[in-house]
Amino acid sequence: MNNNVETREFQTEIRQLLDIVINSLYTDRNVFLRELISNAADATEKLRYFKLTEEKSDNLDLPLEISIQTDEQAHTLTISDNGIGMTKEELIENLGTIAHSGSKEFIRKLTEAKKESGTESMDLSLIGQFGVGFYSAFMVADKVTIHTRSFRPDAESWVWTSDGTGTYSLAKGDKNTYGTTIVLSLKSDAHNYCQADEIKRIIKQYSSFVPFPIKVNDEKVNTVEAIWTKNPSQISDEEYTEFYKYIDNSYQEPFYKLHFTSDAPLSIRALLFVPAENFERLGFTRMERGVNLFCKKVLIQEKSEAIVPEWMRFVRGVIDSDDLPLNISRETLQDNALVVKLNKVVTSRFLKFLEEQAKDNPDKYRQFWEKFNHFLKEGAATDYVHKDALVRLLRFESNFTASGELIALDDYVGRMKEDQKAIYYVGGTNREVIESGPYLEIFKDKGIEVLYTYEAIDDYILDNLHEYKGKKIIAAEQDSTDLPDVDLNESQKEEEMAEDDKQALLTWFKETLGTKVTEVRASKRLVDSPAVVLSPHGTHNMQKMIQLMNKEFNSVPAGILEINSRHPVIKGINELRKNADPFAKEAAEQVLQNAQIAAGLIVDPRNMVNRLYNILERAVTNK
Ligand code: ADP
Ligand code: MG
Repeated sequence: MNNNVETREFQTEIRQLLDIVINSLYTDRNVFLRELISNAADATEKLRYFKLTEEKSDNLDLPLEISIQTDEQAHTLTISDNGIGMTKEELIENLGTIAHSGSKEFIRKLTEAKKESGTESMDLSLIGQFGVGFYSAFMVADKVTIHTRSFRPDAESWVWTSDGTGTYSLAKGDKNTYGTTIVLSLKSDAHNYCQADEIKRIIKQYSSFVPFPIKVNDEKVNTVEAIWTKNPSQISDEEYTEFYKYIDNSYQEPFYKLHFTSDAPLSIRALLFVPAENFERLGFTRMERGVNLFCKKVLIQEKSEAIVPEWMRFVRGVIDSDDLPLNISRETLQDNALVVKLNKVVTSRFLKFLEEQAKDNPDKYRQFWEKFNHFLKEGAATDYVHKDALVRLLRFESNFTASGELIALDDYVGRMKEDQKAIYYVGGTNREVIESGPYLEIFKDKGIEVLYTYEAIDDYILDNLHEYKGKKIIAAEQDSTDLPDVDLNESQKEEEMAEDDKQALLTWFKETLGTKVTEVRASKRLVDSPAVVLSPHGTHNMQKMIQLMNKEFNSVPAGILEINSRHPVIKGINELRKNADPFAKEAAEQVLQNAQIAAGLIVDPRNMVNRLYNILERAVTNK
């Protein structure tokens, strides 16, 4: 026994994860092999990059390859690489703790799912996407031993061992070359993984795109190629799909694929994928970017933040440019003029691709929109360089579409009425809310199309856009002279109250409501509702934000109150006013609160309930 063995505990989250990994049944245990190969490939890639960019790397000349040994007698599977290896500190840091909040979230959800489903089988295929792929080794092994030595000069060799039950041990080792060797002592129900044929089969299935030779018992089993540099006509759909699965650690088919090459003015080989699922939408934390930057098939930067804008973080893929200098500093990529240019070209090309997809297969684009719209909206709100193209990709429902049917701004403009002054939109949490509210009335009445916006970001984008194809964009809730006025028919005109009455009522309304409103006026747009509040600018969303930030939200004025002087409620209030009945004030206040509720604004429910009881009492006792 080595008495220099040090035993340490795994971090809580890892213990939870290991508990699941060890005690569950799996739908697909083969995952572990892909995860370990992918780690070996990452470590090898890092070493290759180091050798390319650093001068003092002469002694790092072991072959860049991954070798796997199966031992049917000992029931072990051994995976070795000549990558960067790990120091003792790195072993503790990388395999004993997880810092990433997304991974912690993944484990939390996994733990919950496990609790709910009890002993049922688990699908752990996402494990690699959350940066904890290594631990999948414990699905098949009851003991994992890692012999590793860092590539750094004078680094020592270390042995890490664990059975996955809470602790691991560290001891000095005797590995005399840099790199990592992982030995799995297979569980009795996992002995199939010490059969070479089985291992070869799994590698062909999942790891055919690893950019280094993989040898099983010294026989090379994969063909190493950079698929993105080939001519698209030479690549089958299956190859594309396998490649996607490899780079995204995914088991699903990609949703969209874009492969394009160009030689002038810039050399670009780009292969981009939209994944099948949007994990941000499913409640996981923010995605990292997923496009890797290459130069002449050599990885320059993984998950590069420089090569695509932030809103494109859902896109997975590879961008390769011969024009990049190989020794470009990863730290300053963001400021490199060539990288900035590449980013612009690739982003534009991707947006053009989406536009073509939307045209050629609108149904599929709709599915895409449902899953990924918030990225495009984020882009439309933040990316000034590509704003126009992003805005063209936005989709909306409207009072002219069926529920779930979507149109673009171009569709809207293409069927605008000849005398229509602007593009209109109206906000609300959903279709029913919008259609039962007062803002749509005038548009229904006039047969004018109005876009529905269900999220604050929609309003933000449209409000900031101001116009599209030379047409102003106006919120139906906005105080604007560009809104249509209602045309009254004869009988409606007869309903109108006398002009001097109307003026007196407006003055009284404003005096009664005081600072709760900025102005009270007679509406030219209401048909059936008694009143509506208008926002000085855009939709009511800004107002809502101010309300949410302000404890005394009652003190924030509601905006402009427009009243419908033909409406029986308003006319009734006018009569009460003339009779100096104090009930007039209560009714007026309730009209304002109803209008605020219809606008989606926050109202104080306490005094409203009392007021409503007063109103009810009057109604039921008929006083
Ligand atoms: P991820 O690969 O997503 O970071 P893993 O759980 O698969 O998550 O691996 C955790 C970390 O352990 C890796 O980021 C790496 O730093 C280290 N590691 C794992 N395998 C190796 C290896 N073969 N060589 C060097 N480092 C490794
Ligand atoms: Mg990994």
